[in-house]
Amino acid sequence: MSDLNRLTIAGARDALRKGETTSVALTEACLSAIEGAKALNAFVHDTPELALEQARAADAKRGADAPALSGIPLGIKDLFCTKGVPSQAGSAILNGFKPEYESTVTQNLFDQGAVMLGKLNMDEFAMGSSNETSIYGNAVNPWRRGDDNTALTPGGSSGGSASAVAADLCLGATGTDTGGSIRQPAAFTGITGIKPTYGRCSRWGIIAFASSLDQAGPMTKDVRDAAIMLQAMCSHDPKDSTSTTTPVPDFEAALTGDIRGKTIGIPKEYTLDGMSDEIDALWTRGKEMLRDAGAKIVDISLPHTKYALPAYYVIAPAEASSNLARYDGVRYGHRAKLAHGDGITEMYEKTRAEGFGAEVQRRVMIGTYVLSAGFYDAYYNRARRVRTLIKKDFEDVFAQGVDAILTPATPSAAFGLGEMAAADPVQMYLNDVFTVTVNLAGLPGVAVPAGLDRQGLPLGLQLIGRPWEEDALLNTAYALETAAGFVAKPAKWW
Ligand code: GLN
Repeated sequence: MSDLNRLTIAGARDALRKGETTSVALTEACLSAIEGAKALNAFVHDTPELALEQARAADAKRGADAPALSGIPLGIKDLFCTKGVPSQAGSAILNGFKPEYESTVTQNLFDQGAVMLGKLNMDEFAMGSSNETSIYGNAVNPWRRGDDNTALTPGGSSGGSASAVAADLCLGATGTDTGGSIRQPAAFTGITGIKPTYGRCSRWGIIAFASSLDQAGPMTKDVRDAAIMLQAMCSHDPKDSTSTTTPVPDFEAALTGDIRGKTIGIPKEYTLDGMSDEIDALWTRGKEMLRDAGAKIVDISLPHTKYALPAYYVIAPAEASSNLARYDGVRYGHRAKLAHGDGITEMYEKTRAEGFGAEVQRRVMIGTYVLSAGFYDAYYNRARRVRTLIKKDFEDVFAQGVDAILTPATPSAAFGLGEMAAADPVQMYLNDVFTVTVNLAGLPGVAVPAGLDRQGLPLGLQLIGRPWEEDALLNTAYALETAAGFVAKPAKWW
């Protein structure tokens, strides 16, 4: 078999089970694809020896009943702590940090026999929408606008994961999503990404950004692979007090493609002023595809949507400022060189000033401001109240019988690197307009590639599901994927 790195997880699993290939062959194909794709800057720490060792172990245990992920080469976002392997969250402050432990999600993947190729680029501490806040420099989108050579963002913060999957450097990758970081980069690179219900994947060992919003999820070449990989990532974990005991359904078995009789809500508040006609047209096509598949399309209202971005950009920085207080030069990573006479305060100040990039510093400052005694009620408590109202908007429409909600995944296709960074930071924050509501409400959301824009760039649609019903959500996504028939791949230039 040639081009093994281009296989889907399901395709590779079936080939492995039939003895048509080996995990070592798959892993070698991915390692050589990674070697040839340095221009994408997707992988930031390669672990080829570990990968081949895991692949050999998977091959030694091969059998018809091997777990689905046995021998499957994956990339892991740098936000996951991986034992003995650099885990820096894209930050200089964690320079040299090699965890003594494994995150629950990566341990679950390894228990299923998965192979880790290395760690993937990301925005620093997962703060960003373009991968440009990474200490390693940005990852690059394998897609380009027609024959224009402008380098485009793969999105963020899971930009390395998106770029690696879209360019077939790995069969699938882990991502995390606090305000859209799985779904937005998936949409920008023509792949599938699901953020499950808050609590579905353990957060233990995932470097924290905003703990009440952070969730891990898979980024894959199609919906079936998302179902397979999510299955392996989820588990109840006593080490994370917000991890659910709700049983994990068989996600792949749910993919029948039959959505007849399902009710799909179209929220009127997601039509933005000045929204591009291409995004609008894609959304309309999405509605038609689901209707043709037998679903009932209804107009719905989520009245508090317009407050979601402001509430998110209060709550997420508030939690981040608290979570990032631990990086003080004492316990982890970088410590600034001190001058004679410097005390502990100078050590904290210098270490944090050197170790954190501009966006992280901005978030820490916003966070400490909104949590400060005089402003706590005006900002933080008000944002928390808004969050409750946003959650209630969704509960109300689900109570009216809506099974899933269809929206665009992003307000635009991938933009040029540097194009947005030059603008006001709020321009960058606007990227999350369709995704943050889902995190604030703790719901599952999936981005599915649904078409190309005039310049040949992928565009995604988002489906939002009921809590703990990722099985039904994935099935609706599968029906949409089947109808959209998106098969385009980026032309190889790297
Ligand atoms: N772009 C958003 C932010 O910068 C979301 C990031 C994320 O989901 N990790 O906060």
